[in-house]
Amino acid sequence: MKSHNTNDQKEEIIFYGLPASPGVSHGPAFRFLHSNVEVLQYQVEESDHESEIERFKEALKLTQSQIRQIREDVAKNLSEKEASIFDAHLLVLEDKALIDDVVNEIQNSGDNVEQCVDRVTRKYMDFFNKLEDEYLRERSSDLKDISKRLLRNLVGATAAGTAFLDEPKVLVSEDLSPSDTASLDRSKILGIATDTGGMTSHAVIMARASSVPAVVGLRGLTERIKEGDSLLIDGFDGVAIINPKETTLFRYGKVNVRRKKIENLLVEESKLPAQTKDLQAINLLANADSQEEVELGIQNDCQGIGLFRTESIFLRKNQIPSEDEQYIEYAKIVDAAQGRFVTIRTLDIGGDKVLSGVSNADEQNPFMGFRAIRYCLRNPDVFLDQLRAILRASAHGPIRLMFPMISGIGEVIRAKEFLNTAKKQLTENGVIFDQDIKVGCMIETPSAVMIADMLADEVDFFSVGTNDLVQYLLAVDRVNNQIAYLYEPHHPAVIRSLKAIFDAGKKKNIPVSVCGEIAGDPHFLPLLLGLGVGSISASSPLLPELKFFARRFSMEEAIKFSKKLSLMRRPYEIKEAMNIFHEERVSKIIA
Ligand code: PEP
Ligand code: MG
Repeated sequence: MKSHNTNDQKEEIIFYGLPASPGVSHGPAFRFLHSNVEVLQYQVEESDHESEIERFKEALKLTQSQIRQIREDVAKNLSEKEASIFDAHLLVLEDKALIDDVVNEIQNSGDNVEQCVDRVTRKYMDFFNKLEDEYLRERSSDLKDISKRLLRNLVGATAAGTAFLDEPKVLVSEDLSPSDTASLDRSKILGIATDTGGMTSHAVIMARASSVPAVVGLRGLTERIKEGDSLLIDGFDGVAIINPKETTLFRYGKVNVRRKKIENLLVEESKLPAQTKDLQAINLLANADSQEEVELGIQNDCQGIGLFRTESIFLRKNQIPSEDEQYIEYAKIVDAAQGRFVTIRTLDIGGDKVLSGVSNADEQNPFMGFRAIRYCLRNPDVFLDQLRAILRASAHGPIRLMFPMISGIGEVIRAKEFLNTAKKQLTENGVIFDQDIKVGCMIETPSAVMIADMLADEVDFFSVGTNDLVQYLLAVDRVNNQIAYLYEPHHPAVIRSLKAIFDAGKKKNIPVSVCGEIAGDPHFLPLLLGLGVGSISASSPLLPELKFFARRFSMEEAIKFSKKLSLMRRPYEIKEAMNIFHEERVSKIIA
């Protein structure tokens, strides 16, 4: 962190973090304080108990009016069904037993109201958490939301949510969860800057997919920035600048001009074929989380959807959708793909994608825990509902079905048994679907790499999830920014694993794609093509740049280059060689 004081304006403070989503943006900062509010504890004179109780009642009223407003907005923008989630929150706020408990706690303990609210709501949450009944257990997460909002209102911090923003702002937060990101009004977000988080956290992937510039790992930013400060974020180099000086803005103006030049070239070449300089066609697919992103993929000329993350639907609804609801969503996605295939991945909940009341946020090792296929195989009703919904949608157009986080052959075999059950159930009911739906699996655990040849006997295709593969291979949590410097997709172990997977695919004659975030990074393209990848699946906004770069080298060069990289021992050497390969071919054109 560096700071400069000038006479003409507030102090300029520079923070260095990790570039998470490309682009530069500048605007007023908005502190999105969603995490725990600091709850102070102090004693209050008996004569002041009444005013503490009054503060509590005022905070209750304010919280109720905020929730009513959110409910109204959600009903208008989404649906009455989604809005009804907030009815449960309103009921909590009117609960007489809870209100009386807080009032009694203030009177009996003599502690400040924040402390009493925190203590009482925790007691209620513990109670609900221990119940067998899933519905009642979910009330615990309603309570958690409500208690956070109440506490925020008591301590005067800005309420979470962007619905209240009157102008577009740069969002600053300690961290963002995927459900936070899903609920943001993106038209009001110029950029995202967070204190923590890794480059492949799901919140960041979502930002990249919506072309919102983002920088993560900016330790201490939220503490330093004040509401109303202006903030510039540079998503290319991972920099955030509080109250940038005129000269800084001028310099970044130039960055934007260079970027504009590139974008103009990308538009000019957008209708040219995706192929290398020696005319070898390359298969570019799109990753998508929503119908809009599928449409964007089609606009960007993708040949299919290489990864549709179904959990995005679950997270947006903040609950498990019924079979019919899912069918409607998947059918919309398939229709939007206009005849191109859609690779629908079954639910990958867990890890950093926590669905309240469903996946467990309190696991000690969530990324190595009860996640994805592990959750589905243990929850047959949820899994079968999803499989039937996907199969029904296959009547609308070509679907490939894919299982995430496979670590052993038994999981694929059992998942396929579930698929057969779902097919049988539909057939018995005379429902039409694609009987020969293609089935694939993600390769994202080291064990799956080691047995790729065996897995290939069970599936029709592989898709390599490098975001997870890198974290599991290198034992580096993908969202922990303290060890983000060890999260190295350029590691020789990653290159060797990719080669082993592509070779297994070739030997067993099944197609292999890469759908992790490295697939969208042009620097990796020659390596992937040279090692023999079948297709590349990336966020739609990144496809034009991949195509642009592919047209600047030959397949022969890519093969030679990948062999050279395979002999290197240090990740930084590999990274530097990739930068040079890229720079030599691109910088001349945009100089
Ligand atoms: C991956 O792990 O690379 C992947 C594509 O899956 P996700 O990012 O959703 O975990
Ligand atoms: Mg993954």
